[in-house]
Amino acid sequence: MGSKRELALGMVGRLNGSSDSGALGHFYGGKSIEGSGTRFEVFDPSTGAVLGQACDATEAELGAAVSSAADAFGDWSRTAPQIRRQILNKVADLIVARADEIAAVECIDSGQCWRFMSKAALRGAENFRFFADRAPSAADGLALPSADHVNFTTRKAIGPVAVITPWNTPFMLSTWKIAPALAAGCTVVHKPAEWSPYSARLLVEIAHEAGLPAGVFNAVNGLGETTGKRLTEHPAIKAVAFVGESSTGSAIMRQGSQTLKRVHFELGGKNPVIVFDDADLDLAVDAAVFMIYSLNGQRCTSSSRLLVQRSIYDSFVEKVAERAANLKVGDPLDPATEVGPLIHPRHFAKVQSYMDIARSEGARIAAGGEPVEGASGFFFQPTLFANAEQSMRIAKEEIFGPVLTAIPFDDEADAIAKANDVEYGLAGYVWTSDVGRALRVSDALDVGMVWVNSENVRHLPTPFGGTKASGIGRDGGDWSFDFYMETKNVALARGTHTIQRLGV
Ligand code: NAD
Repeated sequence: MGSKRELALGMVGRLNGSSDSGALGHFYGGKSIEGSGTRFEVFDPSTGAVLGQACDATEAELGAAVSSAADAFGDWSRTAPQIRRQILNKVADLIVARADEIAAVECIDSGQCWRFMSKAALRGAENFRFFADRAPSAADGLALPSADHVNFTTRKAIGPVAVITPWNTPFMLSTWKIAPALAAGCTVVHKPAEWSPYSARLLVEIAHEAGLPAGVFNAVNGLGETTGKRLTEHPAIKAVAFVGESSTGSAIMRQGSQTLKRVHFELGGKNPVIVFDDADLDLAVDAAVFMIYSLNGQRCTSSSRLLVQRSIYDSFVEKVAERAANLKVGDPLDPATEVGPLIHPRHFAKVQSYMDIARSEGARIAAGGEPVEGASGFFFQPTLFANAEQSMRIAKEEIFGPVLTAIPFDDEADAIAKANDVEYGLAGYVWTSDVGRALRVSDALDVGMVWVNSENVRHLPTPFGGTKASGIGRDGGDWSFDFYMETKNVALARGTHTIQRLGV
């Protein structure tokens, strides 16, 4: 455990010290660039200690990073896809080789637990391998013959793209966007979240070590309202892949509107897990607990609303409360830890504020509800709100912490109405042994993804994304390529049709 912390601190120290200024700068044009902009502090959420400082990119630095991506685009988009496949597979190999180092950095930078981050680092490698292997077929299109024409479609990389990511599982989430963009032939400027910037630097270094040409993948640090805003307004950027809050998605849409940017948004959620009384209740408890308290509840697909059929509500909620109270909260680097700290004092204050909201709305705090006593980091007890109603703010707003709101429902229609009564529509989880009901409820949920009798298990060829305020567009499989590429139709006449003769 000590050695993991040493490994992580050593790595962060190296990244801080990679410039003379002693602060984390940028990486573009194939090299590390010292930042000259305003600095901001980055915390270790488990101790509250300052890990280091990072630099907000200046306008000139951001412009240089985008120019690097624009200059590299022609060659990279014309590079044989087999070569792109080779290089991106090499990125995957190097991620696997350094997975422990990446996971350790992620733990101290984001407060996420080792038990999840060690897997997330490997999932980052899988993301690269998955899209690398599809690079040779990315440009493939359709044949759409008509009576007089043979139509066929092809795809081409759209251009330099911006990738803007949040802090909750920074490394894995960024690979989910960057790997398909690079495989498609796009060049990338990545801006990671300011609260957890270190693993993004490891990724860009690894990608260059794997042989990615200079300028193809660039990373700038900075705040959303400065660096993020400039990046999404830059005319050379053709598309923005963004993961973060719904309100930030709106801002990015406004910022990109002047230059007509294509946008792909993966935003917030208030996802229901719906438990009918005919379900395998032991498994449903396992899944409900896992889906809200893993990743410290800072997970877009977390099941933050527990909708339970009234006949089993009390007993089910009691079991969940027992498990919540029993969760092992502690040092994220300890492999036994199940729940780590919240990312930042500001986020901690937001999560904590919902305790008073819950009390004032008349819900009962059945587990947790307090900061962890004696902790120096930003630890909050895994919390369960019982006797809640769908009309309450704790049932409608994304809290994004280890906080679950349990609401009773009467029948299928009531469950569906309550599940859909939020502005979000990312994921839904349905627990029942009745196949017909599973199909009816899945169909009626206004969400992008449904898991039946399962927690969230990703299969990379399937579409990932949400409806309503949870997002625009889908990732995964060919959906990713569709976003990072332009489709062109070519119509070839068979010489069989008559062309109208005008002005004869
Ligand atoms: P956030 O929106 O505050 O920040 C995300 C990123 O956007 C950061 O890099 C930030 O610097 C940048 N940003 C902020 N303002 C910007 C602006 N005006 N222009 C350009 N960039 C800007 O989100 P967060 O707090 O870092 O992350 C938590 C949110 O992310 C939650 O709402 C969560 O549900 C969501 N999320 C969604 C998914 C998904 O797949 N749907 C996955 C993970 C997280």
